[in-house]
Amino acid sequence: MARVYNFSAGPSMLPESVLTKAAAEMLDYEGSGQSVMEMSHRSKVYQGIIDQTEALLREVMNIPDNYKVLFLQGGASSQFAMVPMNLMTGSGKADYVITGQWAKKAYKEAARYGKANVVASSEDKTFSYIPKLDPATFTPDADYFHICMNNTIYGTVYHELPETGDVPLVADISSCVLSRPIDVSKFGMLYAGAQKNMAPSGVTVVIIREDLLGKAMDITPTMFNYQIHADNGSMFNTPPCYTIYVMKLVLEWIKNDIGGLENMQKINEQKAAMLYDFLDNSKMFRGTVVPEDRSLMNVPFVTGDEELDAKFVKEATAAGFVNLKGHRSVGGMRASIYNAMPVEGVEKLVAFMKKFEEENA
Ligand SMILES: *Cc1c(COP(=O)(O)O)cnc(C)c1O
Repeated sequence: MARVYNFSAGPSMLPESVLTKAAAEMLDYEGSGQSVMEMSHRSKVYQGIIDQTEALLREVMNIPDNYKVLFLQGGASSQFAMVPMNLMTGSGKADYVITGQWAKKAYKEAARYGKANVVASSEDKTFSYIPKLDPATFTPDADYFHICMNNTIYGTVYHELPETGDVPLVADISSCVLSRPIDVSKFGMLYAGAQKNMAPSGVTVVIIREDLLGKAMDITPTMFNYQIHADNGSMFNTPPCYTIYVMKLVLEWIKNDIGGLENMQKINEQKAAMLYDFLDNSKMFRGTVVPEDRSLMNVPFVTGDEELDAKFVKEATAAGFVNLKGHRSVGGMRASIYNAMPVEGVEKLVAFMKKFEEENA
């Protein structure tokens, strides 16, 4: 069976070697005589898996020792509530930058629990840029400052972080985690759903500085309290065992096959440059984001003609390039080129786009 080139925004491609390994270990994980799907999460062998996953993530991302790593459920969307419930308890204020639908959802949820302040928004131009931020407009005594680092739907990314001083910076990195090195020490907290760049759906990783734990509101459900999960090694209840195991395989792939995040970044830059160069030189296709804020991971583009867009998506699908239809709020196309998309997949897509342009000129 031929595998397609899958440009889905999420859940998205996994490295083929990870799928092969998972398949090989399906019936018998390392001589245990069981699938990881069947194991007690309290067993020694499973404890080994979750411990190795955390150790690999700490190594690959270079996470400082004063940060906890939590494996949670409920998606990145649950973090929109967990962040304010756990952190918005000093002044009861927090700053938000609205750079897309995920950032907006995070803001709206926070506004239910305290004074959420919109520092800036790029909604005026369909979120096609990252707003310039002026620290003079930030709330000096905010409990935290929230950004969505890579905007999956619109294809923008922060190339520079806001200067928030002593106010902890909190970032949703769901669609850029593991795509390049990131200085964790610049953040109070990071969170990411797994299904873009880490694993299948089902687990959300939280990386939180220890001094930010233990401040949750009284009304916080036990399952929403970071401290509870930190105290219980992410095993207060049954964790998403199999998803965490696949994350371990993905991290091993990044460490051993790719050679770490510096190399991952080089490959991702190479892929993105190929696609953006083509878009910048095409007479038919164009990118929708201002060049200085372009994402390495999500590349939206249009022809400017809805019928031609639909024809392109249809013919691309038939040729084995799937999930290229843009998000319903932007239209056009979007190619998500996460870590697992091979260079060859982007090369072939660009060749296909060239051919389509010639045939439809
Ligand atoms: C996909 C995505 C989400 C939503 O994740 P769920 O796991 O479905 O809740 C939130 N933020 C960003 C940046 C995303 O890309």
